[in-house]
Amino acid sequence: MQKKDASHGFLPGFQHFATQAIHVGQEPEQWTSQAVVPPISLSTTFKQGAPGRHSGFEYSRSGNPTRNCLEKAVAALDEAKYCLAFASGLAATVTITHLLKAGDQIICMDDVYGGTNRYFRQVATEFGLKISFVDCSQTKLLEAAITPETKRPLALGADICMYSATKYMNGHSDVVMGLVSLNSESLHNRLRFLQNSLGAVPSPMDCYLCNRGLKTLQVRMEKHFENGMTVAQFLESNPRVEKVIYPGLPSHPQHELAKRQCTGCPGMVTFYIKGSLQHAEAFLKNLKLFTLAESLGGYESLAELPAIMTHASVPQSDRELLGISDTLIRLSVGLEDKQDLLDDLDQALKAAHPPNASHN
Ligand SMILES: *Cc1c(COP(=O)(O)O)cnc(C)c1O
Repeated sequence: MQKKDASHGFLPGFQHFATQAIHVGQEPEQWTSQAVVPPISLSTTFKQGAPGRHSGFEYSRSGNPTRNCLEKAVAALDEAKYCLAFASGLAATVTITHLLKAGDQIICMDDVYGGTNRYFRQVATEFGLKISFVDCSQTKLLEAAITPETKRPLALGADICMYSATKYMNGHSDVVMGLVSLNSESLHNRLRFLQNSLGAVPSPMDCYLCNRGLKTLQVRMEKHFENGMTVAQFLESNPRVEKVIYPGLPSHPQHELAKRQCTGCPGMVTFYIKGSLQHAEAFLKNLKLFTLAESLGGYESLAELPAIMTHASVPQSDRELLGISDTLIRLSVGLEDKQDLLDDLDQALKAAHPPNASHN
């Protein structure tokens, strides 16, 4: 059972990311058992002392003790007042979109995640929302897309931060989850209401796992960066590779911006293999360590072909404009040994482009 007066928000005196990820929201004193690791609270309902007089928990959709631990930890990491957890990243997107009404306009970056693109194009427009896809790296294009119907959270004094925790935050490829953190009390109240009313909440087991994943987020990201950078440099100097896209490389158009805004880069490395679809498929087929699969951010290395897999729901003309061609390969570089990863990429590239054939 969780006591009502559990401390939350932040850890006085110990403000660094790794420390907060391990301790905030996890105080053993909140449990009558003094459990050091938060229990998985599976009960859907909570006993009330008298009608309407409850411990802070009534029914597990509207609030759950294990979910609470996770939400407090993530809020602290974002230096935010509030965090809400959802059954998936898309459920978080849908719930945020429910802040709007028919006729409102959303401006969305044009290379948004394929599932978000599909939700906006094929679902949200059915409810009368207007969606404009814009190349948001060009401020002029973004400004030109703004109309009186545009609903901009920043103009409302709000700053919503939304995650698919399915990726690096959980980090073990065994949970689908979304997280939203924010500071505005009124917006938080409305989203809390929508979280309960729409019901797209994560299970206590998923909350437990994601909360556990956060404990190693910092060390995992340091290693993803190290491995990602090594792979990116290897590919960039490889004659069988056309071009590498990785913000940690000086060749990336936003390398300076990345250096200013970020303390590192993740394990996401994208590259164009020389040749055609046939070469891309041969490369993917010959990988031994990298698994051919969608998603990203887990401890294991993955490879995929966005044009046919993650971004298949993006219209082909848009894919062409965005450079998502048949030779574009996306790697999620995991936490395996660096040399083993390079050896695997090297042998698969050679299998796709045998040494005696021309690479041009
Ligand atoms: C994975 C992902 C999503 C969707 O999140 P789910 O947890 O799979 O619902 C949305 N946006 C981005 C950028 C993603 O990578």
